[in-house]
Amino acid sequence: MEELNAELAALHTLHQGLERQGPGDAAFTRQMLALLARLPDNPRIADLGCGSGAATLELAQWCRAPVTAVDLSGGFLETLRTRARALGLEAWVRTVEADMGKLDWPSGSLDLLWSEGAAYNLTFAGALATWRRLLAPQSLAVISELTWFAQHPPAAAREFWDTGYPTMASEQENSAMALAAGYEVLGVHRLPSRAWWDNYYGPLLERMARLRLSANAAMQSVLAATEAEIDLFRHCSDAYGYSFYLLQAR
Ligand code: SAH
Repeated sequence: MEELNAELAALHTLHQGLERQGPGDAAFTRQMLALLARLPDNPRIADLGCGSGAATLELAQWCRAPVTAVDLSGGFLETLRTRARALGLEAWVRTVEADMGKLDWPSGSLDLLWSEGAAYNLTFAGALATWRRLLAPQSLAVISELTWFAQHPPAAAREFWDTGYPTMASEQENSAMALAAGYEVLGVHRLPSRAWWDNYYGPLLERMARLRLSANAAMQSVLAATEAEIDLFRHCSDAYGYSFYLLQAR
C-alpha cells in the first residue's frame, strides 16, 4: 500500500504543472466543438477528469458559459484555477474535487459532458453507463478513449495494453457499446498522432529528463513505465490512439 501511494505521488509529481495530463490538442478540441449542434441558452457543461484543464479552458471560451471541472487531484485543479485567472476566465471555471464515477448530481443535469483522456479510469463501458444518467434528453457527450486502430496490432502493442488496459477496444466496438448504453453516435474522430508528441509526450519527456537526476525508487519505477509507454507509441502509433466519440443521449 505504501509503495502504491509513493508511486501515485511520483506520478502526480511527474504530471503536476504540465498543460495537459494526456494526449490532446486545443485546436482539435475546438474542431470537435464546431461539429456539435448549438447548445441551449445557459448550457450546463462539465469536463470530467479535467486534470489541469486544457479542455476546460477551451470549453469555457468556446461556449462562453460556465464549466464545472471535476478531478480527483486537488493539485491539478489548483493549476487549472491559476490558468483560468491568467486568462480572465475565473468566473467561468468551477472546480470540483471529486470522483467522477460517483457524482451525486441530479439526473439530467448536463447539456454537454466532456471528457478527454480520462474515461479509461472507469473503463469506457463504465463511464458510458455511469454518466448517462447525468445527461438531459438530447444532450451531448464528447468522450475521448484509447482505441485500437489496427485489426492486428503488433505483438508488443497487444502485450503492453493487454496488461495496462485490457478493455481497450476498436472504434466499432466502442460505438456499439455507446449505442447499447443509450447514446446515439454522431461521429468518431481520431486525434492526430502529432498531438501526442507536441502537446503531451514532448513536454513530459523534458520533465522526465529533469526528474531522473534525483529520482527515488518510486519515481524511477514511474519513469520506467512512462518511458515504456512512450517507446511503444514511437513504434506502434498506427496501431492505436485516441478517438473522440461524439455522442447524444437518446
Ligand atoms: N483531461 C485532462 C487529464 C487527463 S489525465 C487532459 O486531457 O489533460 C486523467 C485525469 O483523470 C487525471 O487528472 C486524474 O487525476 C483524473 N482521474 C482519474 N480517476 C479519476 C476519478 N475517478 N475521478 C475524477 N478524476 C479522475
